[in-house]
Amino acid sequence: MTIAPKIVILGAGYGGLMTALRLQKLLKRGEADVTLINKHDYHYLTTHLHMPAAGTDHHDNAWVQITELIRKSKIKFVKATVTEIRPAAKMVMLEEKGIAYDYLIVGLGGEPETFGIPGLKEYAMTIRSINSVRAIRLHIEYMFAKYKLEPHRTELLTFVVGGAGFTGTEFIGELADRVPELCRSYHIDPSLVQMYNIEAAPVALPPGLPPELADYGMRVLERKGVIFKLSTPIKECMQDGVLLGTGERIKAATVVWAGGIRGNRMLEIAGFETARGRVKVDEYLRTKEDSNVFLVGDCSLVMSPEGTPYGPTAQIAIQQGHNAAINLVALIRKRPLKPFVYHYKGTVASLGKSSAVGVIGNKRIRGRIASFMKKVIDIRSLYLFGGLSLVLKKMIFK
Ligand code: FAD
Repeated sequence: MTIAPKIVILGAGYGGLMTALRLQKLLKRGEADVTLINKHDYHYLTTHLHMPAAGTDHHDNAWVQITELIRKSKIKFVKATVTEIRPAAKMVMLEEKGIAYDYLIVGLGGEPETFGIPGLKEYAMTIRSINSVRAIRLHIEYMFAKYKLEPHRTELLTFVVGGAGFTGTEFIGELADRVPELCRSYHIDPSLVQMYNIEAAPVALPPGLPPELADYGMRVLERKGVIFKLSTPIKECMQDGVLLGTGERIKAATVVWAGGIRGNRMLEIAGFETARGRVKVDEYLRTKEDSNVFLVGDCSLVMSPEGTPYGPTAQIAIQQGHNAAINLVALIRKRPLKPFVYHYKGTVASLGKSSAVGVIGNKRIRGRIASFMKKVIDIRSLYLFGGLSLVLKKMIFK
């Protein structure tokens, strides 16, 4: 009797979960022994986290129970934190035990990249998980409540967002929508609230948008009260604000860092060659050090035909998960592998409740239509994971 190969998937984010779901569909019963390991028993919709962070949506709309998506007969789910990967021993260490594998798929996502800026780790908050966004939301509300008790401290109403890519733009757009409601609720003059979006690069909004759309996005956010500071690196983050490269100091009781992402540190420690924590993969998404280890999502580095790395997005993570599953099945069935080819479908960034900006195919969209398309994209990814019932359950239509 032949023993079924052991496939272990680390992380149930966009990349890891898609790998598991495709394997569930493609593998025959008993063809492989598949284990999915994730820190939490839920998958969080990272692309939705800016809303609960600002408090414009409930965090319950940003997560899905993993066991509702997978079939126990095909995938074993283990809720655990991975502490170490040992490629030489083909083992993954969890807090309490080790798990052996024949094939490993790493989809552990990324970590905030602070570029060594002093104080960011200690004093800035980050939008990374359900728990982190709940903390941000409560912190924002607390700052309004606290200001009522200490009205001389205007820094309590100053919010600094570092980084104006996807995360920074989408979060500050939601925050700008939430502020009027909080001002009404706490009887605070809205002109006392200051929202800064600080970016080291000369442009705001996610990369890949044509300049006129990035300008449009900035104008929409400026009308909502956002103050942009471009070409302005944050030099230091302190307990009471930030020091900018220009020498300016902004006193703020809230700093949210959305200025960069790096791969999970565990990969460097495991001995894989990394660039900002991301591992460069081959055309089949395998590491150059070990052909039994595949990487998907933010911890992988895929080069475009032009020789530049693709940015870390949910869009590419989902496509990688799909491809990794196809190649795992091919390996088991001793068939040729399929190279990964990224099909870029576009970029749409939300600017708050009823506006967005982006490109789909070669069509440039903005305003309400773009906002509608953003919802369609969210619905599509929910549908890919859990079909119509998941779409309806998460009430993404509202
Ligand atoms: P993740 O989705 O981060 O998942 C990693 C998983 O690994 C998580 O479930 C985590 O709990 C688990 N994990 C981590 N460490 C461990 C451990 N030690 N042990 C066990 N489990 C662990 N991209 C887009 O394409 N479009 C967008 O509109 C967009 N908007 C965004 C908005 C925001 C606010 C943010 C933060 C990101 C956005 N992105 C967007 C980027 C996108 O969310 C990421 O690129 C994507 O989530 C990467 O998927 P992943 O599978 O690599 O990792």
